[in-house]
Amino acid sequence: MSEQLDKQQVINLIGHNHQEMSRYFSELGEQPFRASQLLKWIHQHGVYDYARMTNLSKALRGKLASQTTLDLPEIIKDQASPDGTRKWLLRLADGNSIETVYIPEDKRGTLCVSSQVGCGLNCSFCATARQGYNRNLEAHEIIGQLRLANQLLASDDNERPVTNVVMMGMGEPLLNYRNVVQAMQLMQDDFAYGLSKRRVTLSTSGLLPEMLKLSDECPVSLAVSLHAPNDKLRDELVPINKKYPIAELLDTCREYLKGIPHQRITFEYVMLDGINDSDDHARQLAKLLRNVPCKINLIPFNPFEGTGYQRSSMNRINRFRDILMQKGIITVTRRTRGDEIDAACGQLAGKFTDRTRRSIRISAEDMKS
Ligand code: SAH
Repeated sequence: MSEQLDKQQVINLIGHNHQEMSRYFSELGEQPFRASQLLKWIHQHGVYDYARMTNLSKALRGKLASQTTLDLPEIIKDQASPDGTRKWLLRLADGNSIETVYIPEDKRGTLCVSSQVGCGLNCSFCATARQGYNRNLEAHEIIGQLRLANQLLASDDNERPVTNVVMMGMGEPLLNYRNVVQAMQLMQDDFAYGLSKRRVTLSTSGLLPEMLKLSDECPVSLAVSLHAPNDKLRDELVPINKKYPIAELLDTCREYLKGIPHQRITFEYVMLDGINDSDDHARQLAKLLRNVPCKINLIPFNPFEGTGYQRSSMNRINRFRDILMQKGIITVTRRTRGDEIDAACGQLAGKFTDRTRRSIRISAEDMKS
């Protein structure tokens, strides 16, 4: 037990961004370029054993080994769907677990990354919401998902198969702002993964203050979970709407776009049979979004055990898309991938042991305050 505790107090350098890594080395009295060297060993070469980092002095390697770790989450389940989608269940050092999904496409490999153990936002159609919230992931647990995926998927002619990251796994990434930004900085760092900001997308249910902070500090591509064209319905589906209603959300989206010129916001819209999928809803949506440079991503609802909702028919989804397109809004229907292994949007569910705190849900009352 004491050994385990000690291990948790040791710094895990996998989550250190360039700035923190440089600071760490300067505190050791080392040159800042050591940070770039270590980042490359970890994130580009997948080397976690200091003894193999031959361009660092022996004394430095010894110091690193005694003060820090480079531990990654442990893969406890690896599932592959016939369409090529992979889902990994990862166990964290404290016994909690999370899921990460890889979705291969023609020229892209997209990784769907989790940011929290569980989620407290309680969206009515989401499986993750069912388990409640346990804790934020550390930066090393977030970037560790990308490191592991590249490692598991690498082939001789492709060392880093993940070309795009979407922060669309378990959790609300903007409620874990600092650690998520730190991990996204590593995703974009040329000494780590070198992904452009267009290839890193954060999906949020709409936390306005954090969206504004993000546009200043780390303006990645933004996806917003809208799911309804009016406040009455959105209050029901995405309860954080009671705190941050649609008009303010759209103002904030316009503000965000100032930081990423020529880009669009992606609005996600889950297609729930008989709930938000009528012609009238489509027309309301088109009207609502006419002044926001955007595209709409229609997500056929992915069912899970115990849900009361059903997926809209393909005819309905096509009709909804056609109305939006006729009104001039680029609309695509997200292909459902990996549903054979419950890896589709909203189906992710890790397991957690609730030893340290009781599971909490952010209640509607909290959301109003
Ligand atoms: N908390 C973030 C990330 C969530 S997951 C957010 O709210 O944006 C990514 C997308 O999947 C979100 O748009 C989410 O609303 C949607 N989603 C959740 N459950 C779903 C389900 N059962 N079927 C389809 N999409 C779902």
